[in-house]
Parts: sequence; C-alpha cells; structure tokens
Amino acid sequence: MASVSNIPLQQSVADLGIAYKNFFNSLKGKRKGKRVGNPKFKKKTGRQSARFRIGGFSIKGDEVYLAKIGDVKPIWSRALPSEPSSITVIKDAANRYFLSFVVEIEPTSVDAKNQSIGIDLGIKTFAVMSDCSKEKSPSYSKQDRKIRKLQKRLARQQKGSKRREKTRIAIANQHNRIADKRKDFLHKLSTKIVKENKTIVLEDLNVSGMVKNRKLARAISLQGWREFRTLIEAKSEKFGRTFQVINRWEPTSQICCDCGFKWGKVDLSIRSVLCLNCGTEQDRDENAARNIKMVGMGHRHDLKRTGSDRKTSSEASCCEPSRIPVALAPVSMSTLNKSAPTALAAWRSPPGGYRQISPQCPPVLKLQAAKFRDLCRSAVPLRQETGRAGWLVVLGAFLRMAISAAGIH
Ligand SMILES: [Zn+2]
Repeated sequence: MASVSNIPLQQSVADLGIAYKNFFNSLKGKRKGKRVGNPKFKKKTGRQSARFRIGGFSIKGDEVYLAKIGDVKPIWSRALPSEPSSITVIKDAANRYFLSFVVEIEPTSVDAKNQSIGIDLGIKTFAVMSDCSKEKSPSYSKQDRKIRKLQKRLARQQKGSKRREKTRIAIANQHNRIADKRKDFLHKLSTKIVKENKTIVLEDLNVSGMVKNRKLARAISLQGWREFRTLIEAKSEKFGRTFQVINRWEPTSQICCDCGFKWGKVDLSIRSVLCLNCGTEQDRDENAARNIKMVGMGHRHDLKRTGSDRKTSSEASCCEPSRIPVALAPVSMSTLNKSAPTALAAWRSPPGGYRQISPQCPPVLKLQAAKFRDLCRSAVPLRQETGRAGWLVVLGAFLRMAISAAGIH
C-alpha cells in the first residue's frame, strides 16, 4: 500500500461513492434518465485509470511529476491553455498510457459563414449536409476483418496462456486503430461544421433500435453517430452556436423538401426519388438533410399527420409506393391531364422514380387506357377529401377492374 500514492486511492473511493449514490437514486426513481446499474469491479485487462488532484502532481517544463511515480515525460499533443486542476493517468486495453488534464477554457468566438445546416447521418456516406456536401466515413473494414479473425483465434486459446494474452493485445490494438481513426474523423468534421454554421440541426436517431438489425449492426456500431452528436453538442457550446435535435418521428425521408409532397416510406435500397408533384428528382439523403434543416429551423410544409404515422414499421400501408403496384403510387395532377396512353407509359417506366415494381404489375397494365384515365380522375378528389382511406377505396376499385380486365370472374 505504501508504494502507491494516497491520492488516486481516495479519488477512487470518492468515485465509488458517487457510483453508489447514482445507483440508489436511480433505483428509488430520484434520478432521471436511463437506469443506472450497480458499480462493477473493473477487469484487470480493461481500461484502468488513476486520478491525481492538486497536490498529487506538478508540472515542470515538459515533464510531469506524479506522486510516488516520479517524473514522466509525456508526448504533448498541444500546450495546456491553463493550469490543470487534475490529471488522470489512463492505461488502455492495449497497454498504452495517456495523461488527461482537466483545464478551464474560455469560450471562443468565430464568425460563422452560414446561418444553418441540417445533417443526415448514414452508413456509406457518414453525413449528408443540407448544402449538398457529403462526408464519407473512413473505412474500418480492414481492421474489422482482422478483429474477426483474431477473435476466432482467441476463442481457441487456453485461458491464462501467454499466447492468448498476445492475441488479446492484438485485438485491443485493432480496436484502438478503429477508435482512433473514427475519433480523428469525427473531431475534424464536427469542428468544421460547428465553425462554419450558426445553427446545427441533427436528427435524433434510435441507434439502439437500429442495431437490432443484425445485418447492419456492425456497420452502425462502427459509425459513432452518438459520439458525433456529443462532439457537435459540446463544440456548439464552446463556439456559442445553436444546436438542435429534431424528433425521430419526423418523416424526413418521406417528404419532398421542395413542395412538401409526402410520398411515404421508401425502401432503403432506393437512393433517389422523383417527386411526382413538382417533378424534381431528389437524392434520398440530400432531401432528408434539407428536411431536417427545415424542421429544425421551424419551417415546415403543411402536413396532415395522423397518429398512425408515428410508427416506424408502417410497412405495406397505402402510402408506401415501393410496395404497391400501381394504383396507390402518388399520381400528380400533371400526369392526369395528359392523355391516357402517355400516363400509362409513364407508369410502365417511371423516369428515375420508383424503381421497385411489384411482380403483380402485369395484369393491371392490361387495363385499357381509358379505364385507367377515368380511374385516375376519380382517384384525385377521393385522395384530397379522405386521404388514406380514399386510396384504399381506389385500390379496391382498381383490383376489381384488374380482375375483370384479366377475364377472371
Ligand atoms: Zn416535390
């Protein structure tokens, strides 16, 4: 015991006290937010840390004196802006050592270039901004592949063996590579965004729900969306910017950002949507980013929203064009005013629009052009009056006509 300084020991006892306080307050319901579990013992192999408060350290030039450890000469990442109030020595899983200083900084002011920005986060392109710029995330696949391989090796090795320890460190190293790459990328991107914009709008993502998608779980976990949000939030405060998060139920990918037309849920594989109302082709992510910005700034298109919209899994509802063959895909007024054969042709080959067409399509296309036109004419007032229910009526009518056209009774 005498070989260790008393300061980190006292600190860890104090930390344990806070942890228990949080745990019991959470149990009694006094503490808001997510439930806090009971404190756990740390693993010897995991991250370890010791905190030195004032009195336990001193800084002499570029050397740091730590009580009972002695002088250490760190590689400084930058000069300290002020006297630190505490130093934490961190040893990570790959046996790297870090010194972390707690310092006070003054908020800085940088003039922002733009008023506001909306950001849509994704997997392939990490962020799509409302000004149409895109940021790709670095590739973690090489490290990820190595980790999978090493994990298999680790599982076969004897517990407590030296070789297993070697593999453990190799895995930790790869994890560190990923984490460092990501941290570097996120820091640079968030600084750039916060410096350039006065208001930053992000979407509240249900990450823990998305990770349940097993095909995407690994890719999503590697992205660090939450980390990005935390960084943006902290840096916004530092630079005096407004940071906003919009509701996760906001249908940002279902609405045309130019005219507010709601085309409904679109499958993830569809990357661009041709708005049938105003005729612009919208990139899926860009459209979402611009919608996020719009909602965050308080401007939004007038929408009739019902309670049933507030579900993520409203699949196969009648506002989802990708799944419903013909009748329910939104029909614009301009299409209707054209002569019927053209309208029909438009459906056969939607120009860059909905690329998924269900196999049930052919019998419907057998319909005579005139019948199609009449139906569309009747469809529009129905839709305007009754919304979704109207479309259901149209679907029924259309199916009846399709059946009679195919000659089945
Ligand atoms: Zn539009």
